[in-house]
Amino acid sequence: MAPLIPRKDSDAEEYQPPIWKSYLYQLQQEAPRPKRIICPREIHAPLGAMELKAEVEELEHSSFSSELYTQVENRPKYYGREFHGIISREQADELLGGVEGAYILRESQRQPGCYTLALRFGNQTLNYRLFYDGKHFVGEKRFESIHDLVTDGLITLYIETKASEYISKMTTNPIYEHIGYATLLREKVSRRLSKSKTEPRKASVTTCEENVPVEKITSLVRRAALTQNDNHFNYEKAHNFKVHTFRGPHWCEYCANFMWGLIAQGVRCSDCGLNVHKQCSKYVPNDCQPDLKRIKRVYCCDLTTLVKAHNTPRPMVVDICIREIEARGLQSEGIYRVSGFTDHIEDVKMAFDRDGDKVDLSANIYPDINIIAGALKLYFRDLPIPVITYDTYSKFIEAAKLSNPDERLEAVHEVLLLLPAAHYETLRYLMIHLKKITMNEKDNLMNAENLGIVFGPTLMRPPEDSTLTTLNDMRYQKLIVQILIENEDVLF
Ligand SMILES: [Zn+2]
Ligand SMILES: [Zn+2]
Repeated sequence: MAPLIPRKDSDAEEYQPPIWKSYLYQLQQEAPRPKRIICPREIHAPLGAMELKAEVEELEHSSFSSELYTQVENRPKYYGREFHGIISREQADELLGGVEGAYILRESQRQPGCYTLALRFGNQTLNYRLFYDGKHFVGEKRFESIHDLVTDGLITLYIETKASEYISKMTTNPIYEHIGYATLLREKVSRRLSKSKTEPRKASVTTCEENVPVEKITSLVRRAALTQNDNHFNYEKAHNFKVHTFRGPHWCEYCANFMWGLIAQGVRCSDCGLNVHKQCSKYVPNDCQPDLKRIKRVYCCDLTTLVKAHNTPRPMVVDICIREIEARGLQSEGIYRVSGFTDHIEDVKMAFDRDGDKVDLSANIYPDINIIAGALKLYFRDLPIPVITYDTYSKFIEAAKLSNPDERLEAVHEVLLLLPAAHYETLRYLMIHLKKITMNEKDNLMNAENLGIVFGPTLMRPPEDSTLTTLNDMRYQKLIVQILIENEDVLF
């Protein structure tokens, strides 16, 4: 996917805030509201729907006799008075009385224990198989109450019926690439934002007649500022989208359209906070710029996410530990093989999580260099995706199995190119360092093979953790690291 390239021609232009499109918001306001048809007494009550409806309204406010209440046999606890017991589709239809948004629940005649939501929409009765597992659902979305489920269902039906063509074209002309946020200067954003405080909110809403609240600082604006300033290490990073329930009206930062529905209206990136429709998320480029506020830890954080968040070429742990080891540990006997005291290693890990790149690893705090070496190895072991990724793992193992050294080296070289850029860079940097370690072998007694034994399982783990695979692969893991140290040019 093409990265976002700053458009030179718009450099001089004033920053334009996105124009939020409110059409779908207005449709949501127009959507029919749920009308619960309550079962007042026996299920075969010979009442016409309209009379019933009137009675229902009355009953809603009166105290309900418990005898009357229990006449609907076998009502599940999690359903309320909208449950009408075993009735036919035709009876359901009659109860609904052709009122848009009217709904009842009924039990299947053919399959007792199966429940159906009968709902009036678009002048017809729609029947949905209804499920409950602590929450109510007919599809993917799960709801606390039947009322919420029906409200959301009506909004979705209404919008998707009325605006199906509009929605299908929503992604074709996204604001994401056109508002010029990639070219924007941080000063412009802050100027614009401070200016907008005094301007009426409507200034950025064109089609909206009502006073629709608009988020002042969207993640898009924040990203605009970031993109301009910090693109030294332009690693691609996919967004980390998770289904999200938005409180209050929200607009998609890809297509600028309203995100409709009551819950799970769209997805949000957990790393940068970008909010988009689920269907729009497929088109968003891999240009996630993680927000430091959302990245709480240094250890155990995805490698690319960490370096993008801190805008460094490699994880800070790698640079800082290696700097310290090269300053005072190159000749240390058994460096990386001799383990440091576990509590002290944990202490370094906590210091990184707490202080980030301000961490102090100097000799007066950690006199034993093996603690620093141990902290670096722990960093690699704690990665959610190892430096040699799960995706490439088996290809590396296959390459290591080749008996002809030239073919093996060539195969390793090819697989290296499949690594994500930040992983590749980290591996390259580490191998240059390990080469320096081996150049001091007469003092530290560590050669490429020893280091392979230590780093093999640290840098690569099989995707499925089975003891047998791990045991079988160990010598190949060692060999890969050994090859990389001995042929450092393979990584350039
Ligand atoms: Zn993101
Ligand atoms: Zn969208």
